[in-house]
Amino acid sequence: MISISEPKIQVYGDVCIVYSDISERDKVFRLWFSTSIENKEYIITKRADAFLVSTLFYALKKGQDIKVNALVSEKLYYNITTYFMDTLCKMNSEYKRINIICKTDTKRENVYNGVGTGISCGVDSFCTLYQHTLEKCPPGYRITHLTFFNVGASGDYGGDAARDLYTERKDFVQGFCSRSAFPLIDLDSNLSEFLNMSFLQTHTFRNCIAVLIFQKLFSRYYYSSATTISEFKLDYKLAAKYDIFTLSMLSTEDTEFYSSGSTFTRVEKTRLISEYVPSYKFLNVCVYEKDNCTICYKCKRTLLTLDFLGVLDKYRESFDLELYRKKRVRFIGDMLANKNKDKYLKEIYILARQNKIKIPLLSRLYALLSMKWLYNEISIRISDKHKKKIVELFKRLRIAKHLASSTNY
Ligand SMILES: [Zn+2]
Repeated sequence: MISISEPKIQVYGDVCIVYSDISERDKVFRLWFSTSIENKEYIITKRADAFLVSTLFYALKKGQDIKVNALVSEKLYYNITTYFMDTLCKMNSEYKRINIICKTDTKRENVYNGVGTGISCGVDSFCTLYQHTLEKCPPGYRITHLTFFNVGASGDYGGDAARDLYTERKDFVQGFCSRSAFPLIDLDSNLSEFLNMSFLQTHTFRNCIAVLIFQKLFSRYYYSSATTISEFKLDYKLAAKYDIFTLSMLSTEDTEFYSSGSTFTRVEKTRLISEYVPSYKFLNVCVYEKDNCTICYKCKRTLLTLDFLGVLDKYRESFDLELYRKKRVRFIGDMLANKNKDKYLKEIYILARQNKIKIPLLSRLYALLSMKWLYNEISIRISDKHKKKIVELFKRLRIAKHLASSTNY
């Protein structure tokens, strides 16, 4: 049996911490979440919803029942015990069905009727934000608060390095929030250390857990989906594939989750945010650097999309466009070579065709030279005598590639 204690709040200077002790026999883990003191009034302690969801994976894996020594949302309890647990067990044969022992509660605790979404300043989050700040968005669905959580996006397993990266990124995001006048709800935690699981497998749950801490604030919360609804699949290794189901299962009487942006492709999202002026300075998609490096795979595909949409110059403050223009021939070549194994590059290729973008001849040459499989295919079908000639031909083509890479376009 795993036991969850009643959540408690403590204040340390300008930080407020909510925690619960998760016990299993003589082992005790103190799971905590901390936020700025001004967010204290948004935290719910009457119910232990966030702590129950945090413990669920561990309990299913161990086959141990959970006893919650606090109230749990009746809706959440019903969803988990009636649909969600069985679905998780069917997805992952290592999980065993368990009992959850708790008292449930139906009383609404939400006070502020806030509407939130996470902000990373990437394409997905800007798309959600823009869509929910437009005039045509009904007032009750317009975003009032932005969030930034340390629940695994800066490092799957937590620790100091992840916390440092979270703090660095939070400063950047804070800059955007100050400029656009949205209050930022920050949250640090040791959830990653407690879960000890891959982020790809659990990111939807982790973010919902963080939001469930603030149920007095959020009546609606948009989770920016990275996949489209047509890609829905119950695959426990990829939480994004079934997030629309998870979000409905983890909604409570107070907080309703939505999978936002799942009806758009990446190109459609990029087209949409190109109308959102604050994104010009703050769009940040890089996988390696604090500022966009312009050459990693995410920077590259975002730049190609902006280029083919005809809006590249709007983003001169967030990318090194001079560097992009030098690399453009190669980037387009990479897109041509890899479009059949990467759905995002395929989308960009289709956009190029639709917008009648002229593909440079040297890009086509790059694509040809990148297709190592072609060489491998040929080499296993020919005799050693002809192989030598083919190798020589490829050597010459590589020289041509080298020449092309030193040419600026
Ligand atoms: Zn980058």
